[in-house]
Amino acid sequence: MACAVRYRFERGLGLGLPGQVIHTAQVEVDAAPSDTVELHFGRRVAPDGFVWSVPLRRGEQSRLKVGVMARGDAGAHLERFLTRPDVSARLLGDPGPPTRRLLPLRPLAKTYADRLLVVGDAGGFTKPTTGGGIFYSLLTASLAADTLLEGFGAGRLDEEFLEATSGAGRSGSARSCGWGTGCASS
Ligand SMILES: Cc1cc2nc3c(=O)[nH]c(=O)nc-3n(C[C@H](O)[C@H](O)[C@H](O)COP(=O)(O)OP(=O)(O)OC[C@H]3O[C@@H](n4cnc5c(N)ncnc54)[C@H](O)[C@@H]3O)c2cc1C
Repeated sequence: MACAVRYRFERGLGLGLPGQVIHTAQVEVDAAPSDTVELHFGRRVAPDGFVWSVPLRRGEQSRLKVGVMARGDAGAHLERFLTRPDVSARLLGDPGPPTRRLLPLRPLAKTYADRLLVVGDAGGFTKPTTGGGIFYSLLTASLAADTLLEGFGAGRLDEEFLEATSGAGRSGSARSCGWGTGCASS
């Protein structure tokens, strides 16, 4: 299962919810050209999180992606940041409403069941310090594929087999990102 941060199925299947989540809000807006990625920290800027500002180009147009990961109302923190004089001076358009999304910071208590493995954000597999989940989504998907191949080979897709093969039964990166135990914060 790889359906990201909806958690309807996880709840329905009795797998629980991520141990911790945090809020995000992000906009992309026309802006003065820049080649600097910025990170901003501080309790007033983004409690328990940070603000990022990433320059990019869409065709000939320079744009900025500005986002917040924070406890509480990430949208309000983002709005406050965008109206700072040093930030708003660089913007060349109206940022519009942000895209808001939850980020899991800790995995589900259980990410396997009969005929089921949960990967990526759906399993809560991210780096807890930054919420970055692309690497862990790919890693858990790859481990799930290996596990399922073994399961098909052994004619077993039951919970006991999937738990043993996908978690404690593997070594190295698999152990640091084992199902049901969560990813190491490396
Ligand atoms: C604002 C923001 C910035 C981020 N920046 C970074 C970053 O810089 N670096 C980083 O590593 N991570 C970052 N992340 C986290 C990263 O985006 C996620 O951890 C990663 O995309 C998770 O991958 P995933 O495949 O589990 O889920 P997703 O990429 O969300 O993909 C899930 C897919 O499943 C589909 N889906 C959902 N439900 C169903 C269903 N019922 N049936 C079929 N399909 C379904 C969805 O449409 C979607 O295409 C960021 C997240 C946010 C919110």
